[in-house]
Order: sequence, then structure tokens, then C-alpha cells
Amino acid sequence: MTETHHLLILAALFAALPVAPSAAADCGSDKLGTAREIEINGAEGLSVGLQSYPRSLALEDHEVVLTFDDGPAEPTPQILEALKRECVKATFFLIGKNAKEMPHLVKREVDEGHTVGYHSMTHPDRTLRLMGLDEAKADIDAGVAAVDAAAFGKVGEHPQPFFRFPGFADTPELLNYVHSRGMAVFGSDLWASDWRKMTPQEELKLVLERLDEAGKGVVLFHDNKAVTAKMLPDFLRALKERGYKVVHLVPGSGKTPIEEAGAGWKSTTAPIVDKILKAKQREKHKKETHEKADRDAM
Ligand SMILES: [Zn+2]
Repeated sequence: MTETHHLLILAALFAALPVAPSAAADCGSDKLGTAREIEINGAEGLSVGLQSYPRSLALEDHEVVLTFDDGPAEPTPQILEALKRECVKATFFLIGKNAKEMPHLVKREVDEGHTVGYHSMTHPDRTLRLMGLDEAKADIDAGVAAVDAAAFGKVGEHPQPFFRFPGFADTPELLNYVHSRGMAVFGSDLWASDWRKMTPQEELKLVLERLDEAGKGVVLFHDNKAVTAKMLPDFLRALKERGYKVVHLVPGSGKTPIEEAGAGWKSTTAPIVDKILKAKQREKHKKETHEKADRDAM
């Protein structure tokens, strides 16, 4: 055999080997990276996230799951750039109507290896809890269809087992409904409070303090918040410096690794949601009373 033959055989062998994605070339050990995946089985009727439910994903110490709600939105590309630079995969809980308006961003999330989940069609101001049951179910269904259409071009072929209630305002009936549709419900273990008015530095400090205190967890951000987009590169660097590892959620059919909450667990979101919803109901009642008074005066 000539040397040329040897080279040809070698070339053929290399061509047959699976090639790592080109992005991997930039993902050296100086980058945060994505350490491992957790498979979520949507058939198990799970609700996780210690701020709302008495259990969460079984994460090791210093493992974090990054989740972003309410997109796609204007700051989303900046978020995607920051994640890509650090080779990090996240989960996006998308609002259906935003997905319909900006399908290219949803497609980009999927193409870049992120996970997409559902967050209702309209993110109703009064929340799904205060809607009629049928109306709320229809809003959930429309949200799933809109995200699927944007992400995969087809509805129902790639069902994603990830749902988060807008404002965490679930009900027992709606939890059953979401579970019956093959989705696990995600609360969060901690959040960045990025709906508050603050600087990127303030948000960074706050979320790192909360994470260091919890030691691990599913973290909630909003990719429609410019402050979060500005803060994210520093946050990802800080995770790397502090020895945190990013865990990526993916759909799966095995047993989802779950850890039950300890004794004395309390919901963080229940009292907040109750307070907000009571205020909304009072407002609605006041408005209706005024309208009635106006009508009676006419
Ligand atoms: Zn939301």
C-alpha cells in the first residue's frame, strides 16, 4: 500500500467519526459550561420547586438550573449571547403570544440547545386562578400550541414536559389538568426578584446571596428584563468562580430525580399570591360596584 492509500484510509476513518459540535471548540475549561442533564418525565404528575411545592429536583450541592420566564422578548438575544459565551444551557418558560410574535427567537433557543417550556398563552394579569376553569385550560392549550409552532414548526410532535404557572397561581384543578397533559409543573427554589426596580449590580448581589445561602437550586429569572440581560454575564462568571455547576433540564421517560422538602417546609409563594389575588379581587369588586352605581345613576 502506498502512503497515499494510507492517508486516504485515515481520512475516511476520520470522516466516519462523530464530529463534536463546532461550538464545543470554544468551550474550554475556562468556561462555565453545562455539567450534566436531568431528564424530566412529564407522565409522573410532578410539581417541583421549593418556593411553591414541598419537593424539588435532586440537585447536588452547588448545582444550579437556570430558568427564564416571560420571553421571548427584546432582551432575549442578549441573554442567549451570554449563555452561549459560557456554553451554558437553560430552560425558557415562554408566553404563547410572545412566541407567536417572535418565533425566530424561540427557534433560536431550540437551535442553540436550550429547553423550551410553557407559561400560558396570555400570562393573564388576573392569573389563571381567577379565570373560569375552561377559559384557563384554553389559555394553557393555546400557549402550548403557540410555543410548539414557533419552536418545532408543528404542534404536538415534540411535547415538552415543562410548565410554569404565571405568578405561581395554580389551583388543584389546573395542576391536575397540566399533569394530565403530560407536563411537570415548575416553581422555583429561588429567584432574582428581577421584577423589582434595581441595578444589574444590585440584582447580581441579591441573587448570589440567595444562591450561596441555598447552596443549590432552580433559579428563576425573566428574559424580558433588561436588567437581567445586563447582569447575566457577571452572574455566569461568578458561578464559575464560586464552583457552581449548571444542570440542564431535558425531556425524558425515566424516573425524575426528586428530593422531598424537610420538615417545617413552607410555601414562599402561597401567601404572596393570596395577597395579590385578594387585592385584585377587591379592585374588581370596587370597579363593578362603581359601574353599577354609574348605571343606576343614569
Ligand atoms: Zn411569568
